[in-house]
Amino acid sequence: MGLIQEIDFGTPASTSQKQVTLMVDGFTVTVPEGTSIMRASMEAGIAIPKLCATDMVDAFGSCRLCLVEIDGRNGTPSSCTTPVAPGMVVHTQTGKLKDIRRGVMELYISDHPLDCLTCAANGDCELQTQAGVVGLRDVRYGYEGDNHVFKKNDGAENFKWMAKDESNPYFTYDPSKCIVCSRCVRACEEVQGTFALTIEGRGFGSRVSPGMHQLFIDSECVSCGACVQACPTATLSEKSVIQIGQPEHSMVTTCAYCGVGCQFKAEMRGDELVRMVPYKDGKANRGHSCVKGRFAYGYSTHKDRILNPMIREKITDPWREVSWEEALTHTANEFRRIQYQYGRTSIGGITSSRCTNEETYLVQKLIRQGFRNNNVDTCARVCHSPTGYGLGQTFGTSAGTQDFDSVEHTDVVMVIGANPASAHPVFASRLKKRLRKGAKLIVLDPRRTEMVKSAHIEAEYHLPLKPGTNVAVVTSLAHVIVTEGLFDEAFIRERCDWDEFQDWASFVALPENSPEVVGKLSNVDPELIRGAARLYARGGNGSIYYGLGVTEHSQGSTTVIAIANLAMATGNIGRPGVGVNPLRGQNNVQGSCDMGSFPHELPGYRHVSGDAVRDIYESLWGVKIDDEPGLRIPNMLDAAVDGSFKGLYVQGEDILQSDPDTKHVAAGLAAMECVVVHDLFLNETANYAHVFLPGSTFLEKDGTFTNAERRINRVRKVMAPKNGLADWEVTQKLAQTMGLNWNYQHPSEIMDEIAMTTPSFAKVSYDYLEKMGSVQWPCNDKAPLGTPIVHVDGFVRGKGKFIRTEYVATDEKTGPRFPLLLTTGRILSQYNVGAQTRRTENVVWHSEDRLEIHPHDAENRGLRDGDWVRLTSRSGETTLRAEITDRVSPGVVYTTFHHPDTQANVITTDFSDWATNCPEYKVTAVQVGASNGPTEWQRDYNEQAEQSRRIAPLQAAE
Ligand code: SF4
Repeated sequence: MGLIQEIDFGTPASTSQKQVTLMVDGFTVTVPEGTSIMRASMEAGIAIPKLCATDMVDAFGSCRLCLVEIDGRNGTPSSCTTPVAPGMVVHTQTGKLKDIRRGVMELYISDHPLDCLTCAANGDCELQTQAGVVGLRDVRYGYEGDNHVFKKNDGAENFKWMAKDESNPYFTYDPSKCIVCSRCVRACEEVQGTFALTIEGRGFGSRVSPGMHQLFIDSECVSCGACVQACPTATLSEKSVIQIGQPEHSMVTTCAYCGVGCQFKAEMRGDELVRMVPYKDGKANRGHSCVKGRFAYGYSTHKDRILNPMIREKITDPWREVSWEEALTHTANEFRRIQYQYGRTSIGGITSSRCTNEETYLVQKLIRQGFRNNNVDTCARVCHSPTGYGLGQTFGTSAGTQDFDSVEHTDVVMVIGANPASAHPVFASRLKKRLRKGAKLIVLDPRRTEMVKSAHIEAEYHLPLKPGTNVAVVTSLAHVIVTEGLFDEAFIRERCDWDEFQDWASFVALPENSPEVVGKLSNVDPELIRGAARLYARGGNGSIYYGLGVTEHSQGSTTVIAIANLAMATGNIGRPGVGVNPLRGQNNVQGSCDMGSFPHELPGYRHVSGDAVRDIYESLWGVKIDDEPGLRIPNMLDAAVDGSFKGLYVQGEDILQSDPDTKHVAAGLAAMECVVVHDLFLNETANYAHVFLPGSTFLEKDGTFTNAERRINRVRKVMAPKNGLADWEVTQKLAQTMGLNWNYQHPSEIMDEIAMTTPSFAKVSYDYLEKMGSVQWPCNDKAPLGTPIVHVDGFVRGKGKFIRTEYVATDEKTGPRFPLLLTTGRILSQYNVGAQTRRTENVVWHSEDRLEIHPHDAENRGLRDGDWVRLTSRSGETTLRAEITDRVSPGVVYTTFHHPDTQANVITTDFSDWATNCPEYKVTAVQVGASNGPTEWQRDYNEQAEQSRRIAPLQAAE
């Protein structure tokens, strides 16, 4: 249970609105027209008692506590639902009102258990507080109202105390404490958009119910926690509060899961985290959250966490716990030995999108300054590297164009290759809210995701395209826009290169790009392509949101370019409600790319071949920087197999599980002489490591993350690192051990160096972030308040660049041996390779990866729901259980990759994006057949992994 203390009812203040002046309890107050009396009173410093009102949901007017009297009007209207009027004279504290409020509260209390002393919410209960506020001292009607009990469904006279619902792992539902204010129901509808809760029954017998008499765990509830936060009593309470007690202090920090970048108050009791409360002033989430950010933090104290550094000579040896000094000296010596023996470029490193900007900056600095090469890459290689390339080429900035608030101004949303309801849930809630208010939706996705149809939303167009045909379909949308004259000529002439537009227009107008031709190769009805194109071009503000279903293809960069072309052609750039918005997978994908993690770019996306930019770092770091790009992750692995790459520092990344073609990754890692894994757990990559450096969680360090809207959010340390050192300190110590003169005292000093050397971060500092809350880069003298929307007056590159997007079918083809196409994705409760979420109660929703297969394909193979199946590609095979569903089209199968047991990436191939090497995870030709259980590879792998995780007893280390 969490209380929403900061009240902000009614229409938000806006200077453009007509102002209204009124009197409240003798005070004059002026507010915008449409403001509620409750909010106007608050502006005057007057708090009106209330129970059913919160700032997260629309006014409801049901609790009858916030009544007021208004001169010249009859009755006692509720102040939360009554708008102000000019000259209105309002009284909030008359004797009549006080009597009514006490009477109403008396009824509430008579219907509520009197267990305040033992209640988890004691001291943090709005009912308790408001009873005091209205001066209730006595209850005349007894304490066993009908709301405590419920009639059995058989209607018998039997009454029993309502049973608690403890089915959800994170919160409990105690109906006996419910005052039926509907705040939870409204939060589920208005904030989350799931509509999982309802009020069941009538009068005193009414109660909140998930679904139709269901337990929470069996209902549609997605455990976002909005209901728990909205509950004014202890009806819905976090189990952690019941177990640990009420929090005593808090710190605002940022979620370490997805790229939405939700902010939370981490509420603590002593040094124990009690709960994460979504932060109302968090500009990305506005007080909302999902099940991961709000509840799935248990991994930080999980028993699997490794807290001591470890080394071993061979990967078949057991691990030996050592001191930090020994581990770092050993690492430094090994890296220097390898470079001496095999050459300067024989080692490299991988930064992580899970780590902070400051940590990432330090890792690339260590590699460039300490390793003296550009062999640095990031896990963004395998997700959004095509975004960087495609948007950089067309617009001039390798990032999304909008802030999340922009979605509130959109009229038509095109979602391509993304399922925000699973992967970016808080953004999905904001999007659904806009859709419920009338915006239209177009979805391009091989699967019928929740975005296509769910409670109270339905896409106008769903183009269920065949995996691998994105370029053809998006170019075909452009064909319709050009051939039907739906483009915005004025915008193009002013903002883009007209000659390039004409060249591009003549290309997209070719018959081979027509919906009729493309429809055949993509399995999409041409009329759907035509309808979607017309709607996007003519429907008002058109915005595009896309995900890994766009980028993780052999033509990922081409699709990003095609999307950018579409937005420029229709003038949908440079104002609220429009734009091109990559939904970033991990919390700091944007930041890890910004910080110079790619082998060809220094921080701020400046190519290493640029003399001027190299000069900045060479003079600061005192070393020569290569003017040639270094190795990308796949190149490092290839070089390792070839014998020229021997040492790797991997911070916060599990390439064995997350990168494609697992066998090749394993071969590359096994061929190296020193693999250093810096992480929370002995992950799959650590099975091939010689040094393990324990990492710290986001709760244990200071820093910043940059979310999908380029927003730099502070991460704040709420507890000491359990392993003794924050990750930035570990990298610094390694650098010092390698002889570098680093001396940062705090991550703020790292940010100062970033700001000093990176123009788009020039004004960013911890002090500035403290003052502003967060800022979106570019943030410099030209844009001191940051930049919510880019390309407003012109493209960053000057003129927007139209580029032809020739469709080249992937080499990954189906055929008699592999007749189906496999595509992959995420599920709401899990996060990427699951290293964190599998170590939380979230596993109750997803304990294994399953293969979605269409009923037609299942029947052809004699498969039943839940059967073990063998999934085979030319790269390898694995087994998992089947889920028969028409969410996927015939010919397409789908799985998640959250569980190492499944090894889904044993199946994916080594095909990758032509421009960036981003793997083609989304298209793999496969066969599916019946199976009796795990493959030989899975069995061998699991045995080897088990062996590899052995830690020698302490005495052996001594
Ligand atoms: Fe965290 Fe993303 Fe969920 Fe927000 S939407 S709470 S950032 S996982």
